[in-house]
Amino acid sequence: MSGLHEECGVFGVFCPGAEDVAGLVYYGLYALQHRGQESCGIVVNDDGVFVSHKDLGLVGDVFPPERLSTLPHGSMAVGHVRYGTTGGSTRANCQPIEVNHQKGKLALAHNGNLSNAAALRDELELTGAIFHSTSDTETIAYIVTRERLTAPSIEEAVKRASRRLEGAYSLVLMSSTKLIALRDPHGFRPLCYGVTGDGAYVVASESCALQAVGAQFVRDVEPGEMLVFSKEGMVSHRDHCGSKGRSACIFEYIYFARPDSVIDGVSVHDSRIRAGRLLAAAHPADADIVIGVPDSGLDAALGFSLQSGIPYGIGLIKNKYIGRTFISPGQSNRLDKVKIKLSPVESVVRGKRVVLIDDSIVRGTTSQRIVRLLREAGAKEIHMRISAPPFLHPCYYGTDIDSEEHLIANHHTTQEIAAIIGADTLGYLPREALRELVGHDGICAACFDGSYPTPIPTDTRKDRFEQKLSEKR
Ligand code: SF4
Repeated sequence: MSGLHEECGVFGVFCPGAEDVAGLVYYGLYALQHRGQESCGIVVNDDGVFVSHKDLGLVGDVFPPERLSTLPHGSMAVGHVRYGTTGGSTRANCQPIEVNHQKGKLALAHNGNLSNAAALRDELELTGAIFHSTSDTETIAYIVTRERLTAPSIEEAVKRASRRLEGAYSLVLMSSTKLIALRDPHGFRPLCYGVTGDGAYVVASESCALQAVGAQFVRDVEPGEMLVFSKEGMVSHRDHCGSKGRSACIFEYIYFARPDSVIDGVSVHDSRIRAGRLLAAAHPADADIVIGVPDSGLDAALGFSLQSGIPYGIGLIKNKYIGRTFISPGQSNRLDKVKIKLSPVESVVRGKRVVLIDDSIVRGTTSQRIVRLLREAGAKEIHMRISAPPFLHPCYYGTDIDSEEHLIANHHTTQEIAAIIGADTLGYLPREALRELVGHDGICAACFDGSYPTPIPTDTRKDRFEQKLSEKR
């Protein structure tokens, strides 16, 4: 319950015949809602005619049955849930982005952030491009459509465009006749595909969304790979595979992804159990019970319990019927919402020495509030354990870890943080343990160790494009 935001979720369907593709995307987006709650959208391709609906809000609110039923049947559709990591929370920034260009139409849904978005946008504006949104996804759409002017096919245009993009992009694009899935050569963000019993191809950010629509998982899209789905079937283009070192975001496993997803062959649930075990080995505690902060701390708490032999308990209950805690900005809002969202189970924690597991500490205010809740419920001791190393650096690849000055571990020692949040002891997962969560070295852990897999931008403000606009006025 770190208060960090996931990036976005993408979903795409290609059916041989005209079907209720919007319905499939709707359920797929529902399963990806944890990846973004600011806005969502669906674009249906009805025999070359694109029909869309996008708005701010959760999937269930933006697509009530009467609205969903206005979307036509079609052979393809793409969908998106968004938490804006670049660009503000406005309707103009809702995705999928749709573009009419000289050679047809394009709809595009993006998960991730380009680390060279500002430079690309400057370059495009100097050559006359006019942007309608402030999200860097529109930059990708521009580059693809420009390349399409000379490229013999949409897939060739996407391939050429991808040579100019740096950073994180898991993309689903739809033309009049093709659905394209593309994952950046580092593989920062997940992307996978599957097939339904009716033979429809389904592309999704996480495998949990394939399950939700009854599709059989086939495999992950490989870093650098482009899959093209058309009436002729599926074709894999691997020109960029292996061109860069794999750098899968380790925080997907620790916090962002759903535990029932499998990313690049590794179960998210299993990796969290491992994190809990490694944490118990690195920072044991003399305690009576292990509890986790719901939801992302629960699996690691179970792992800690299994490793330490300390019984696992349900010590905190999350109110499932409110939105995610940190949708609104502002510190005071945050404190109120934690109180509304979590409540302690007094009979579990009263008089006990409690090990409390969470996935991260960002500013410390949320942890402080949770520790206080448990003290008020009668916990005798609280030993906080974090299933990730301390955050020390910003992320440029599609999350909102964006400001070193707000990361508490940058200014305080572990002992000091324990005192600030009111815990008796505090321990973090050691950095060296991260690779063991997934069993390989192909990970990005830059927010923990500062080792960035790409050149990093100089201006990383989420609203940098809005700021630029106002500076120009
Ligand atoms: Fe993930 Fe951190 Fe790398 Fe960002 S910097 S991609 S959050 S591991």
